[in-house]
Amino acid sequence: MDLTTLPFDTDDDKLREECGVFGVFGHPDAAALTALGLHALQHRGQEAAGIVSFDGADFHHERHVGLVGDNFTKRPVIDRLAGNYALGHTRYATHGGSLERNIQPLFAEFSGGGFAVAHNGNLTNALALQDRLQRRGSIFQSTSDTEVILHLIATSRMERLVDRVIDALGQIEGAYSLACLSRKKMIGCRDPLGVRPLILGDLDGAPILASETCALDIIGARFVRDVEPGEMIVVSETGIESLRPFAPVKPRFCIFEYVYFARPDSTVNGRGVYDMRKRIGAELAREAPASADVVVPVPDSGTPAAIGFAEAAGIPFDLGIIRNHYVGRTFIEPSDAIRNMGVRLKHNANRKIIEGKRVVLIDDSIVRGTTSLKIVQMVRDAGAAEVHMRIASPPTTDSCFYGVDTPEKSKLIAARMSIAGMAEFIKADSLAFLSIDGLYRALGEAGRDGAAPQFCDACFTGAYPTRLTDRERRDTVAALRFAQAV
Ligand code: SF4
Repeated sequence: MDLTTLPFDTDDDKLREECGVFGVFGHPDAAALTALGLHALQHRGQEAAGIVSFDGADFHHERHVGLVGDNFTKRPVIDRLAGNYALGHTRYATHGGSLERNIQPLFAEFSGGGFAVAHNGNLTNALALQDRLQRRGSIFQSTSDTEVILHLIATSRMERLVDRVIDALGQIEGAYSLACLSRKKMIGCRDPLGVRPLILGDLDGAPILASETCALDIIGARFVRDVEPGEMIVVSETGIESLRPFAPVKPRFCIFEYVYFARPDSTVNGRGVYDMRKRIGAELAREAPASADVVVPVPDSGTPAAIGFAEAAGIPFDLGIIRNHYVGRTFIEPSDAIRNMGVRLKHNANRKIIEGKRVVLIDDSIVRGTTSLKIVQMVRDAGAAEVHMRIASPPTTDSCFYGVDTPEKSKLIAARMSIAGMAEFIKADSLAFLSIDGLYRALGEAGRDGAAPQFCDACFTGAYPTRLTDRERRDTVAALRFAQAV
């Protein structure tokens, strides 16, 4: 394989969490706090961000392509977002492409007044619902699945806003953690499986909704509790109400949030993410030991697991790969001539640490395998005697339909090759993955309950916790077309 043809940006070989949400109700600095909260949630989406505020009479909107820090730090922008109520969203497009009109929060004027919605997740029956709504006359402004929710609320026959939201959510399938803002209420809701996180916080008596606790820490807010799976939180001037409008089911939180998506300084569903990643690394060391001189993380996401691996294995931990943190996603891709020089924008080997050593490389996951190939080669070029790769999750064999940007199954290396084949592809001396039961053990479970799994782990097992209605429709249409063609 010609390494110069591999992706230039190594983050292109990661699954990408798509969205972070943040809302604050009744604080004089609502928009500035929301900008800070979104900045802390930047890892959940770097493509675009938006904030909607309400000043008691009018809604105000700012939506921009790019990073929160590049667009929401200027005083005029924050000043334009007047009011004590604000809702924000940062996104990477999993559904609907990168069009500016898809930047959230999405907003609509209903008969009862303005309504903004910020969505983390992905609907698995959005196309089916959109089809139905369009046949009844709805006109869609965006290609985002979130707009389906707005249309369902708008066309609901219920009287009260909260009942209309419940009516709408009762028709959708998939994953959603929503934060919504109306003239009088902020509403937070998690789907019955609780696939994506959502928390409730408080700053000086102002309730806050956020995707992760790190968004509370940045503004000195207090963590109150997780919004429970299937729970709807309704915040108004009279207080906070908790509703349980859906039939309870066993929660299936996304296990990959612990492996990679959530920020390591966040606490998710009562579990500290950093601690979980160290435990995952320790479990990996027990399951797949390696004779080596040094444990080296693929930074940054492999670092906590590598610390756990090194401690459990009794092998020194060291930073044998250094990451350049100043490479944004907007860095101009160089010409082929420059690329062929072997320019490494993001990672470089720390030769003094690696030279002559047997190295265990720890990464959180392998998606296409192209980055692993490049990293193994880089470590060898720096003089490593042996390179053993250990992955802090099971092989990623299936796509995610719940709000994570995943390549098609056919592009996932683990769906196409055996572990031995993958080791050969990435040119490692050995390769091993954490088992699915090992991952559950690291998270404090006895193992995966095969009859009723405790988490969503579909990208490792193919066991999706909901119907995939849109995919079934697409497959049916494809089968019909094929049948007509033959
Ligand atoms: Fe998370 Fe994977 Fe389930 Fe998607 S399929 S929600 S990434 S565990």
